[in-house]
Amino acid sequence: MRFKGDRLFKVTNPANGALLAEVADMGVAEMRDAIDAAHAAQKGWAARTGKERAAILRRWHDLIMANQEDLARILTAEMGKPFSEARGEIAYGAAYVEWFAEEAKRVYGDTIPGHMPDKRIVVLKQPVGVVGAITPWNFPNAMLARKIAPALAAGCTMVARPSEFTPLSALALGVLAERSGVPAGVLNIVPGLDAAGMGSELCDNPKVAKITFTGSTRVGKILMRQGAETIKKLSLELGGNAPFIVFDDADLGAAVDGAMAAKFRNAGQTCVCANRIYVQTGIHDAFVERLTARVAALKVGDGESEGVAVGPLINQAALAKVEDHLSDACTHGATVTTGGERHTMGGTFFQPTVLSGMTPAMKIAREETFGPVAPVWRFETEDEAIALANASEFGLAGYFYSRDLSRVWRVAEALEVGMVGVNTGLISTEVAPFGGVKQSGLGREGSHYGIEDYLEIKYMCLSI
Ligand code: ADP
Repeated sequence: MRFKGDRLFKVTNPANGALLAEVADMGVAEMRDAIDAAHAAQKGWAARTGKERAAILRRWHDLIMANQEDLARILTAEMGKPFSEARGEIAYGAAYVEWFAEEAKRVYGDTIPGHMPDKRIVVLKQPVGVVGAITPWNFPNAMLARKIAPALAAGCTMVARPSEFTPLSALALGVLAERSGVPAGVLNIVPGLDAAGMGSELCDNPKVAKITFTGSTRVGKILMRQGAETIKKLSLELGGNAPFIVFDDADLGAAVDGAMAAKFRNAGQTCVCANRIYVQTGIHDAFVERLTARVAALKVGDGESEGVAVGPLINQAALAKVEDHLSDACTHGATVTTGGERHTMGGTFFQPTVLSGMTPAMKIAREETFGPVAPVWRFETEDEAIALANASEFGLAGYFYSRDLSRVWRVAEALEVGMVGVNTGLISTEVAPFGGVKQSGLGREGSHYGIEDYLEIKYMCLSI
């Protein structure tokens, strides 16, 4: 597939506005060509043995890790996260490639005892076909890697549209995939500004069997509606509004560490970020005091600079949302214990912030803030905490801290989420199933469950 037009779009560094690159602005026509290429390549790719596909994916993993530093530099430059986090993201994305390279060889079917004496029943697993992927800017490498890897391992081919804010990480991954021996047509990266048009083409085109999307619930609903016409299979990893509960019996230091990790990684711009921190009354004041001290000490700056923990927000719209949530909370009686304003560095930098005195009426209780703001609610009882935590249309991640074994089971079972962190604020790994319930999505990524999203079941009834 070749770019036919002459349109380009600019990619800039959110830390300083500098122009990084001009990228081919592909559109619906190129998307259609890419789908044709993926469709033409799919049967041949699926006909290879799992072992062959595994070898290519393994080489891709090795190349990603050999280029970890460069990929991390590209990532920090176009997205703004601290360089150490960018390095971590490259390793995290590569881990999915390694994992699914291994799984490529283990797509097992089943045999079922026949329902009649002369019948034999066999279950085959086959690739769904061409997959369309749409990914966001907050993890421009890993969100894509964890879709491409299981798709290619299963024998699917892919057309991927990365976020228009971060196409460079995606293109770099594509170059390395090509070098590792992924055949032409199997993986197609199609950057462009026309998100809605390109998304519609993926949904409407009958050659695409499945859409896998990570992004907002709003866009997830659009894709679901659009995909209805051709009954697209769907994997959706959508918004979250993660509760983070600290019970009186928690290890206070560990809970503060966990809150820092779950809240301030990527400047609060992750879908599993702690968005609502509920602290039981007996430990509440000490928790707020310690959290405030830790947050006040966070170094804000360009992700390229040494020791920076919090980079810029992705754009002005993100900054405006943080300010809106903050002023809404303050109007309704919240107290700012640290931060609360734009950073003196200007641009889209915002001071890491802690709020206390939160109430359920505030916007932050319902919407994902996607910024460096840690809001703290006070609660009295376990039942109250569970009810508050579940009072959300989202159900991605949830976290809680307790040392009471019975409570750990009770609360873990009661939380309406797809992933629970118990006494930890970091839960993402390629070996576990990542995904949500309620309006946080459909399907799972990672682990041995993850490849199932890219496989169809075919049952064969054999008369002997
Ligand atoms: P976020 O808030 O994380 O940016 P979005 O859902 O807006 O989440 O964006 C996620 C991805 O979806 C991005 O690549 C974006 O360009 C793309 N996108 C936005 N609108 C549409 C649409 N109508 N159809 C398809 N993709 C879209």
